[in-house]
Amino acid sequence: MKINFKHLQKKELESCLDNLGWESYRTDQIIDWMYKRHAVSFDVMSNLPRNLRTRLNDIAYLSELKLLKTETSLDGTIKFLFQLDDGETIESVLIPNVRGNNLYTLCISSQAGCSMGCKFCETGRLGLIRNLKTHEITDQVLAVQRYLEQFRSDVFTDSNWEDKKIRKGEISNIVFMGMGEPFNNFNEVMISLSIFTDLIGISKRKITVSTSGIVPGITKLSEKVPSVNLAISLNATTDSTRNILMPVNKKYPLKKLMQACRTYPLSPKRRITFEYVLLKGINDSRNDALRLIKLLGGIRSKINLIPFNRSQSSSEFIRPDEQDVQEFRKILVNSGLIATIRKSSGSDISAACGQLRADYLNKS
Ligand code: SAH
Ligand code: SF4
Repeated sequence: MKINFKHLQKKELESCLDNLGWESYRTDQIIDWMYKRHAVSFDVMSNLPRNLRTRLNDIAYLSELKLLKTETSLDGTIKFLFQLDDGETIESVLIPNVRGNNLYTLCISSQAGCSMGCKFCETGRLGLIRNLKTHEITDQVLAVQRYLEQFRSDVFTDSNWEDKKIRKGEISNIVFMGMGEPFNNFNEVMISLSIFTDLIGISKRKITVSTSGIVPGITKLSEKVPSVNLAISLNATTDSTRNILMPVNKKYPLKKLMQACRTYPLSPKRRITFEYVLLKGINDSRNDALRLIKLLGGIRSKINLIPFNRSQSSSEFIRPDEQDVQEFRKILVNSGLIATIRKSSGSDISAACGQLRADYLNKS
């Protein structure tokens, strides 16, 4: 069976080339083609000798995600629907950075679906379909980079400028905040992190792994990839509410979770991000804000308030009014915490947090 070169880390690629009897600089050339020039076949690697390309074609291949659909939101967010080799589908979301500097954050998926069953989340409703392989994680970045690249060489005219400008930029940040719980696919996510940093050249400080609160995963992440950013989907301030919203809390209750955060080794100036989905009448009271302040005591944190995004399927939850969201934030900020309100990028195309379902509901 042929080897997918996208599944290999640098050392493995080197030893593969070594076994074939080629010098190590050939590995660097191949990596450059795969990860900088986004080659999808060995045939285009024009600086490799022809006999090496033929040999590579015999033993290996380069995987590629099939882009089924893109949707562009009014705010410039672009949602990508990809098909995997077995026909399953996943989504990635490209969000323009607020500074309007042509840099984007790419929100990627680590699983098709998710088994965690959070009550407010559309991906959770799907259940777990399957874990993604390493290359299915990294190929999301490569496919979107390639998508952006095609616009870079375009000639702009006055009439298409606005449209083209949107897609002219580059991915500066990667967040594991798409479909799936990254720590339920730990090994593949770890290998993808090493490919992002070592081969694609994205700094660890620009990558964020978000978890619903799987405590052993938090500890293992700090051992395996120190200084990657950690985000925790907190979403409640008491065990009783969190047990209902996020079943993971029954296994890893708040005390254990906050203890793991408190001992998470942070590099200087770094903070743990706490995501907090605001649900009207459930977790958005003044007392919740006060409890949140207490919970985060002693942790270098920043809070990302996410007013609930409604999904297409019916939901028991309600988004709080803008004024209540501002009020909640004010209580946190007045206590000295850093708290921002996440704008619902791409909500008109169901690309906002918690809305990703990769067209599964349309399929059924
Ligand atoms: N599974 C990981 C990574 C996904 S991140 C995790 O849960 O952390 C997705 C983020 O969107 C999480 O912070 C989650 O709390 C939030 N979210 C889920 N459903 C949402 C909804 N309907 N509205 C707003 N945010 C939502
Ligand atoms: Fe899974 Fe995260 Fe959604 Fe919970 S919020 S169901 S962990 S994707």
